Amino acid sequence: MFDFLLTGEQRALRDEVADLVAWVPRDMVVAMDRDEIRFPTEFLREAGRRNLLGVRYPESDGGRGLDWVSTCMVMEEVGTLGYIFACTFGVGAELVCDAILRHGTREQAERYVQPLLRGELFAAEALTEPRGGSDFFGATMTGEDRGDHVVLNGQKRFIVGAEGADFFLVYARTDPDAADHEAITAFIVDRGPGVTVEHHYGLMGSRGGGTGRLRFDDVAVPKANIVGRLHGGVEVFATMMIPERLGTAAMTIGPAAAALEVAGGYTTRRKAFGRTINRFQGVSFQVAEAATLLDASRSMVYTTARAVDQGVDDALARKHISETKKFVTESCQQVVHNAMQVMGGIGYTDVYPIERHYRDLRLASIWTGTNEVMSMIIAHEWYEEYATRLAQRRAARRDLEADAVHAGAADEKVYE
Ligand SMILES: Cc1cc2nc3c(=O)[nH]c(=O)nc-3n(C[C@H](O)[C@H](O)[C@H](O)COP(=O)(O)OP(=O)(O)OC[C@H]3O[C@@H](n4cnc5c(N)ncnc54)[C@H](O)[C@@H]3O)c2cc1C
Repeated sequence: MFDFLLTGEQRALRDEVADLVAWVPRDMVVAMDRDEIRFPTEFLREAGRRNLLGVRYPESDGGRGLDWVSTCMVMEEVGTLGYIFACTFGVGAELVCDAILRHGTREQAERYVQPLLRGELFAAEALTEPRGGSDFFGATMTGEDRGDHVVLNGQKRFIVGAEGADFFLVYARTDPDAADHEAITAFIVDRGPGVTVEHHYGLMGSRGGGTGRLRFDDVAVPKANIVGRLHGGVEVFATMMIPERLGTAAMTIGPAAAALEVAGGYTTRRKAFGRTINRFQGVSFQVAEAATLLDASRSMVYTTARAVDQGVDDALARKHISETKKFVTESCQQVVHNAMQVMGGIGYTDVYPIERHYRDLRLASIWTGTNEVMSMIIAHEWYEEYATRLAQRRAARRDLEADAVHAGAADEKVYE
């Protein structure tokens, strides 16, 4: 973390989170990776007891009234334990609560958010369907209007907390005749009759988070549990992308930083050819590359966090957040790759935790919107910005394209 960026209050908060991280028994980390613990209930209870969940929400709802910079710092630090700790920490407290507090009712905040932030209730976000996750608006899960309640039918898959969560934020198609953007509604659905976990996945990594497939069979949900307005799910989805993707970027730094730290310890002790291996450029340059990528990732995360705190407009936030999610998740996978490489064969074993972080972090560029989806958003927003930038440049009377020796070669400037 960049200490020089932090206020005294933020440094104290970081130390509190480090204390939570120190509290987690090693056996819990190992048991989660083995799927012997299916959901980290005890960890989330402890985080809630320490008032570390959702620090950016108002104190009256159980947060601390802090900002996105503080939130990212918390997520980064929690991530040093392992990706799935940060995933489960983030999904309930940072995503689902964000949606309810922004779009939901006071009753929903009191019934769901406040106990969740105390560590007494757990939540999951159910967006992806077996049919596909990237095409969110193609959702096929249905919600049939029955007056004072809606009946849900369908399936969601790859849901962190499918096992373990008490309630779910679920998106369903409630108007079969409307255009996609007007057809979907967000609901809070309690675990209860008609909600079943059909499949618990054998994951490559990020285990212990209860990731599974959820079935909803004739589940009656009172209209009081609609988040936002009926058919207004798009509005909830749009704002959720901030905690979902900025949070993902911040938490991804944690395991990468942990892996590099372990590699630092190894390379300064391990000897080859009579010298510690950090004396070889082949090793130290890989560490240098990893350190640079890690700091560049932090620069992006905390700059974007500050931009969001300062309320930049939606389009700019969307572009910065997508760039950050893409760059940081790819960079941090490279960091863990380098950390493993400089350890030689032992880095590939479970004697050190690097292989676990390597497996876990592969998820980072897939979930919360794949990095291809991030590229689509970045490209779209960049071209929108480009049109504005060009107009500004013309107003400033400088044509950058003209700064070439043969700029006037009209015959060579062929576009079709
Ligand atoms: C361990 C794990 C945990 C998860 N947790 C959750 C969770 O808690 N809640 C939740 O709702 N979801 C969760 N997900 C789902 C995750 O967000 C989706 O897997 C992801 O969004 C991709 O959707 P998909 O798997 O259906 O792939 P698809 O959408 O089918 O995409 C397949 C491939 O096609 C590419 N692609 C698709 N459309 C385009 C396009 N237009 N242009 C270019 N490329 C494209 C994608 O980038 C990808 O490479 C989780 C997934 C995993 C693996």
